[in-house]
Amino acid sequence: MDENIHDALELSLNDWQILFAEWGEQKFRASQVCQWIYAKKVFNYHDMSNLSKTLREKLSDNILMTLPVLIRQQNSRDGTKKFLWQLSDGSRIESVLLNHGSYKTACISSQAGCPLSCAFCETGANGFTRNLTRGEILGQFLTMEKLNGADIHNIVFMGMGEPLLNEQNVFSAIRSLNDKNMRNLGARHITISTSGIVPGIEDLADFEIPLRLSLSLHAPNDNLRSKIMPVNKTYPLQKLITALKRYRDRTGERITIEYALIDHVNDAPEYAYETAALLDGLEPYINIIPFNPIPSKPEFKRSDNARVKEFCRALTELHIEFELRKERGGDIMAACGQLAGNK
Ligand code: SAH
Ligand code: SF4
Repeated sequence: MDENIHDALELSLNDWQILFAEWGEQKFRASQVCQWIYAKKVFNYHDMSNLSKTLREKLSDNILMTLPVLIRQQNSRDGTKKFLWQLSDGSRIESVLLNHGSYKTACISSQAGCPLSCAFCETGANGFTRNLTRGEILGQFLTMEKLNGADIHNIVFMGMGEPLLNEQNVFSAIRSLNDKNMRNLGARHITISTSGIVPGIEDLADFEIPLRLSLSLHAPNDNLRSKIMPVNKTYPLQKLITALKRYRDRTGERITIEYALIDHVNDAPEYAYETAALLDGLEPYINIIPFNPIPSKPEFKRSDNARVKEFCRALTELHIEFELRKERGGDIMAACGQLAGNK
């Protein structure tokens, strides 16, 4: 256990059980506290009515309940909500709540900033501060769920940062979201999006919870991909594809490929053919996402409709399954790649 031991969201169920054993409390009390926090979103120990008054007081005296502080909430015309949070060290991060009717998806940050500097991403352009702790990851989700007043159905690690560069804390948070005694969120409702961190994908293939995996491809050859995603120099495509195939074989899960069309950068139909060849045997599902303009790269533009159509026509010819995504939250800078933590 680490220095954060005395902060509620930093504790796994096992940590709570160890702590309660030390306090001479019964084991099931640990599950009760976790039910209050994770299922009922009750963050004040005094409101945990099935615990004795003495235990409630002991909890409030000894275990902090640190939650991200909401600095600003913005509501998009399409129902998307963006939340700016301040963390205990002053770092600012963002999360997004996406709305598909009553079906909600939380888009969560895993790092304050991102060290990978993809050319098209505002988060990357603003540099890297630090990894988020498991409690800071869970705090975004639980606080949004409380504000939402009803369950959020999905969580996607597509906010700020690269989740597979903060694997330990991300996996620990996911174990608690998935645990039946905590949030009980099904594995199929949890997606990790990665820019292609090969060792992390290998660990995901062996992870005890079969999470969904989304790969941000954006370019089908090493030359172009290294130009727009420097991480490709460390983990080139051949190594990446081998890791993806292993993940596919081990989990049986279909991988989603993200491909944002940037005008005259990666949107020529030839790249659709190259993508199909590269992913041969993987049975991918491709999300074609509109490029979201960012202030730090005015020269990168969204492909016009004709070019999008050409690219999609090529994919159809190649019998590749894909979906043309609509932009969401663009009017409040909440769309993919636009999160900057108010810098
Ligand atoms: N670091 C992880 C997850 C966060 S980024 C990753 O890169 O996968 C979430 C998604 O937004 C990724 O698919 C990323 O490639 C995409 N993205 C980044 N900047 C974008 C932009 N300006 N327009 C559209 N998508 C973008
Ligand atoms: Fe980091 Fe993902 Fe943005 Fe690349 S796209 S800079 S990996 S957050």
